[in-house]
Amino acid sequence: MIIVDPQPHMTYQPFLPEAAAGNISPRHAVVPLRRELKRCKIVAGEVTKVAHTAKTATVQPYVGPALEIEYDHIIVAPGSVSRTLPIPGLRENGVGFKTIGEAIYLRNHVLERLDVAASTTDPAVRSRALTFVFIGGGYAGIEALAEMEDMVRDAINRYYPELTPKDTRWVLIEAAKRILPEVGPEMGAYTVTQLTKRGIDVRLDTRLESCVDGVVKASDGDEFPSDTIVWTAGVKPSPMIEATDFPRSQRGAITCLPTLQVVDGDRIVEGAWSAGDCASVPDITGTPDVNGQLPFCSPSAQHAVRQAKRAADNIRNVIRGREVRPYRHKHVGSVASLGLHKGVAHVYGVKLRGWPAWMMHRTYHMSRIPSTNRKVRVIADWTLALFLRREVVPLGSLHTPREAFDEAAASTPPRS
Ligand SMILES: Cc1cc2nc3c(=O)[nH]c(=O)nc-3n(C[C@H](O)[C@H](O)[C@H](O)COP(=O)(O)OP(=O)(O)OC[C@H]3O[C@@H](n4cnc5c(N)ncnc54)[C@H](O)[C@@H]3O)c2cc1C
Repeated sequence: MIIVDPQPHMTYQPFLPEAAAGNISPRHAVVPLRRELKRCKIVAGEVTKVAHTAKTATVQPYVGPALEIEYDHIIVAPGSVSRTLPIPGLRENGVGFKTIGEAIYLRNHVLERLDVAASTTDPAVRSRALTFVFIGGGYAGIEALAEMEDMVRDAINRYYPELTPKDTRWVLIEAAKRILPEVGPEMGAYTVTQLTKRGIDVRLDTRLESCVDGVVKASDGDEFPSDTIVWTAGVKPSPMIEATDFPRSQRGAITCLPTLQVVDGDRIVEGAWSAGDCASVPDITGTPDVNGQLPFCSPSAQHAVRQAKRAADNIRNVIRGREVRPYRHKHVGSVASLGLHKGVAHVYGVKLRGWPAWMMHRTYHMSRIPSTNRKVRVIADWTLALFLRREVVPLGSLHTPREAFDEAAASTPPRS
């Protein structure tokens, strides 16, 4: 069994907001592949092409020439990437929130803004540094915003006598008329009220028009500068699947049967499987539309981890000449953390808010992150934070590690 991934770990994305807020160590939100998958061969590289007709995958390792790997069965599961729009200034000034690198960067960047604001005498610099904008009100955006606001409030109250939480400005821009569709309209409205009570400026039915040079222009006519623009407005299937010869849906995802076998029209593509955010998998627990078309499973960890198991079991069934079984999981609802001791949940028809929802969020995700090792480490992080408070020191130099050495080397006189 061969696993190809440019990252040597699986990222448990639902823990990214907690990692960014310093409630858990970023290392504990990822699961090392080599440690957990001892019976697999791990190839550190990027799949750049799949020619299923020839049953070969082309892999670009970190260095050196590309490799060709032959296979009998392939599971294509490169996930999704941020779904961006051609908004002026977004590429230069925005950052996503999908990878562990982005979460660590955002944490360091936001905490550094507090130091910028606390040390400047220029009110314009201070105001720009303390303005934080998030675009997109799904669970990634809301959890990231709520956790960061909570962390900043905590940091300012404890360690920044020059600042008060009222100096900060948090803006959520959402194009739809609601947020958190994952928890339903009632809990979404509750979340808007809670965020607004915390002073967060929630703008529904509003779009980001541009952010050239960090000047945010919203469709409601407002315009203001910000050093922090986080794009969390949805995902699209990884562009990697365009380099395959597999059929794709209108959404650009690989078309699958409920058994997770790739399907081209009515024809099963033998030996090809897909799952997760990059796959269009009919949800057999859903209600068909007027044309008899079933809905598709939403891109969520809830489906991705369960589909992975079904796909693996089905491959084994095919090899042993047994029947394949369809993937069946009724979406149980969602939980979202809104900062320490705050949350919202709509699970199995039960709606929870505040501390019980937050507790459910932690319990649920702790139970789902793979490996006992990670579960223990996450619980240890939470327990330590109870007694020692969370860590709010920025390590911005992580992002420019060679700068100090480069400066030292540049100031060394040449040999005479
Ligand atoms: C902040 C945040 C919070 C979330 N919270 C929740 C939640 O509470 N509940 C929930 O159900 N879902 C949540 N999600 C969504 C969930 O995390 C995703 O739906 C899930 O991770 C999708 O799994 P996947 O395996 O399809 O893709 P991923 O987890 O993205 O894994 C894809 C893997 O493929 C690798 N890869 C990419 N390209 C290549 C290539 N060319 N070659 C080789 N390997 C490649 C990547 O490195 C990665 O390791 C959240 C997402 C985010 C960002």
